[in-house]
Amino acid sequence: MPIATVNPASGETLKTYDALSAAEVEQRIATADAAFAAYRNTTFGDRAVLLGRAADLLEEDQQDVARVMTTEMGKPLAQARAEVAKCVKAMRWYAGRAESLLADEHPSAADVADSGADRVRVVYRPLGVVLAVMPWNFPLWQVVRFAAPALMAGNVGLLKHASNVPQTALYLEDLFRRASFPEGCFQTLLIGSGAVEDVLRDPRVAAATLTGSEPAGRSVASIAGDEVKKTVLELGGSDPFVVMPSADLEQAAQTAVTARVQNNGQSCIAAKRFIVHTDVYDEFTRLFTDRMRALRVGDPMDEDTDVGPLSSERGRADLEELVDDAVGRGAAVLCGGQRPEGLGERGWYYAPTVLADVTDAMRIHHEEAFGPVASLYRVPDLDAAVRLANDTPFGLSSNVWTRDDGDVARFVRDLQAGGVYVNGMTASHPALPFGGVKRSGYGRELSGHGIREFCNTTTVWQR
Ligand code: NDP
Repeated sequence: MPIATVNPASGETLKTYDALSAAEVEQRIATADAAFAAYRNTTFGDRAVLLGRAADLLEEDQQDVARVMTTEMGKPLAQARAEVAKCVKAMRWYAGRAESLLADEHPSAADVADSGADRVRVVYRPLGVVLAVMPWNFPLWQVVRFAAPALMAGNVGLLKHASNVPQTALYLEDLFRRASFPEGCFQTLLIGSGAVEDVLRDPRVAAATLTGSEPAGRSVASIAGDEVKKTVLELGGSDPFVVMPSADLEQAAQTAVTARVQNNGQSCIAAKRFIVHTDVYDEFTRLFTDRMRALRVGDPMDEDTDVGPLSSERGRADLEELVDDAVGRGAAVLCGGQRPEGLGERGWYYAPTVLADVTDAMRIHHEEAFGPVASLYRVPDLDAAVRLANDTPFGLSSNVWTRDDGDVARFVRDLQAGGVYVNGMTASHPALPFGGVKRSGYGRELSGHGIREFCNTTTVWQR
């Protein structure tokens, strides 16, 4: 895959970049390693000043960086601006909280005595150079979600961003440099995925985090496993959105649309499978489909656009294959199901689509639909809803709509996912752990859980 900015709204290649040579990569790893030796000894206060400055600069750049993201991967401009604001918030959150999140821990006096020590404390020390392999779908947020806690913990970062968002990747390196982080604390490696293995195997690289597809995650995790290096993986999702009879259907339908089509449908935590109790199926389906049909598809730079193009021609082809397979096996198309009319041949658009009568014989039942395509299922009761919600290789998050406390207790007990969002949609927040189970990956990002993933949890036992 070439490293290039290709506008998904037009298919036009705007800028191409040469990949770094092996010698250039080596030099950057050496710089990162040297930076860590000094940076690990800075105080939380020092780092908070740097990260706070990065947040201020990013806030000033909001309009410009939003336009770069929209140009590179096609998200509606308003959503790009919101992504920038979210990054600013997360940076400030970690700048203010890291010290308390990583405060020393003290076991009880009884446990200390029982261990034979006079004093015991647990301290969180940084791990070192962390490689971040990141995707294009939230090109700023996915990186900041890693970088803010990692830098506050005293680690340094190497970013291998997706090949279709090089300008965003270079912007991030420049942002941390302008914020006066010491040289080497955060560097972008413009490399293809084939060059990741050598970086990962380098003894100066301590750990890796990857957000992206399952094949990419499997590859990075197996190499890291071979090297016995820590990884955090945030892979795909096919989150259920369960609607029970007691739900507020208007609210549920409204939120279901946003949950499915945000970011042009290309979000790991998008609701993808809509599992609806038979008592409210017809009404929910009508409310949901009407709203999906009414969405405005078009130029992502246009403020009125709800849904822009998919990020790549390949991405649209993958989605079309999933829909064609489902329709060929009996799924009903309630709206969409094709490229939208009136947008011409340019741009990788796909119409918001609702499929009904989806069964487990269809690929879309098992695979992630990375675009604005919803699968609808009718279920007779709570047991069937839970069974179907769990009938997926993924387990990232889940959304349930009910006003019945018994339903909630059952979902919280039985849904195989890293999150259960009740009467709302899954959204990440700096204070809340984020991550999945099953093929959605392992480890957690954000919150105290996220910042501790790349720390050396050290027991200090003293007599
Ligand atoms: P990828 O997983 O291929 O890309 C994500 C990142 O991983 C990119 O930086 C990519 O680099 C890198 N990468 C890819 N393969 C390897 C590898 N073998 N070793 C090391 N790094 C690798 O996602 P795609 O863009 O191809 O999207 C494909 C599908 O993945 C989507 O349709 C969706 O289902 C899922 N996906 C999920 C995301 C999520 O948020 N969970 C985000 C993006 C995709 P490069 O760009 O150079 O190939």
